[in-house]
Amino acid sequence: MMRALKVLIATPEAIPFAKTGGLADVTGALPKVLQGLGCEVRLIMPFYRQIQESGEKAEIKDTGIQVSVSLGFRELSVPVFQSSANNVPAYFLKRDEYYDRKYLYTMPDGDYFDNAERFILFSRAVVEAIKKLNFKPDIIHCHDWQTGLISAFLKTIYKNDQFFADTKTVFTIHNIAYQGQFPQSHFPLTGLPHEIFTPDGIEFWGNMNLLKAGIVFSDIITTVSEKYSKEIQTPEFGYGLEGILMAKKDNLFGVLNGVDYDDWSPEKDKFIISKYDYKDLSGKAKCRQDLLKEYSLNLSDDAPVIGIISRLADQKGFDILSQAMEDLMNMNLGMVVLGTGERKYHDLFEGLAKKYPKKLGIKITFDNKIAHKIEAGSDMFLMPSKYEPCGLNQIYSLKYGTIPIVRATGGLDDTIDDYDPKVAEGNGFKFNEYSSKALIVKVNKALEAFSDKKEWKKLVLNAMQQDFSWERSAKRYVELYKRLMIEKP
Ligand code: ADP
Repeated sequence: MMRALKVLIATPEAIPFAKTGGLADVTGALPKVLQGLGCEVRLIMPFYRQIQESGEKAEIKDTGIQVSVSLGFRELSVPVFQSSANNVPAYFLKRDEYYDRKYLYTMPDGDYFDNAERFILFSRAVVEAIKKLNFKPDIIHCHDWQTGLISAFLKTIYKNDQFFADTKTVFTIHNIAYQGQFPQSHFPLTGLPHEIFTPDGIEFWGNMNLLKAGIVFSDIITTVSEKYSKEIQTPEFGYGLEGILMAKKDNLFGVLNGVDYDDWSPEKDKFIISKYDYKDLSGKAKCRQDLLKEYSLNLSDDAPVIGIISRLADQKGFDILSQAMEDLMNMNLGMVVLGTGERKYHDLFEGLAKKYPKKLGIKITFDNKIAHKIEAGSDMFLMPSKYEPCGLNQIYSLKYGTIPIVRATGGLDDTIDDYDPKVAEGNGFKFNEYSSKALIVKVNKALEAFSDKKEWKKLVLNAMQQDFSWERSAKRYVELYKRLMIEKP
């Protein structure tokens, strides 16, 4: 029998420890499933304040191991902590002046000024820590710009280090718009050789670009849906990195994110007032009442509730949604919004909620419990994104019988099929043109379908029975890992 594949997941966030978005859902779920498929998995991330404040704190112990990490001219000592709570051991790298902060990367007024330093240190400390922990990975699977330097270190400073002689790297891009770009003056902090500060290496128009480092130096690059893997090779979606991605296209793959149905299914959801499944939907009606109460809305039964859980950002389609809001508020529907993000959208939606207090509810906060209540209690879920690498909430929505209305981009396009009433096929509503007009037309189509109770129920049941569990996606990752093992000299 072949020995177990050893995989290290290096990530800036993962549930249940710390989360700002979908990345944490992915890095929280994937390790468990990989382990179930026979891999030997470890996770490694910074020890943030969020973790100290989370319910996981009690399970986290000091390993007694410290690594010494170079950061420019300084040598910093980084203690390694470990959680024994999960089946997958997780390591936390502690350096309080960098990670003991209110937010992970960005404050309401902007990014932390020393993000370069914070994640150069993290990436270098990952490499040093696994040596000292004596976990010799076959694969280091890195996620997003914060970990982009790991493969650059392995291919340069550590290239003759026997410990890593058999280690390969996979780099997953969760959102190419976030690249970790910093002035060249930060480059010496990395300790990397000057020869790689070129347009073929880590340089991007005079700056240091950490996402680009991940793309250039990793053995395989993946992104979180098939469609997005094609989109990012074009100028419209590539944010300047389309050229380098096209050049590496033979090693670029789209692997759709899965869903952890232990967390996100109405049968098991511990946050909702009444559990339900596709055989008995009575609980969903109770969840709807509970949601309306939570948002103090007053809505008749024939008006659907449209849910939104999102970062309030242009990427998520808030510009076209803003233009459509007055029209939407004049339709027979209600809307509940949960999100944080750009101040202009906070103000706009709060203003609209005052104008339409019975129909529109807004909560400007990050709250996992309310997110679950929205998934269960809404009838429809709106994601009019400008671009969407994968998108998770539309997939969660399907399981809750909450019908997605999406724009056809990235993972939204890969997961949602436009409903055709003639043949009663499809699992949601999908529009192409990025405009408020196209959005309104599609919402109208959804309202039409909703008004026919029998037709709607069929659509709901169809959606609820779809399966996007992690198993398939994790198997695809294992295939890619094994491909690298075979390619080994
Ligand atoms: P993103 O681009 O933000 O990562 P995804 O759709 O991939 O978008 O994932 C977003 C994740 O974050 C989902 O699990 C969603 O429920 C969660 N989320 C987003 N905003 C909030 C919020 N304000 N409160 C609670 N959860 C949120």
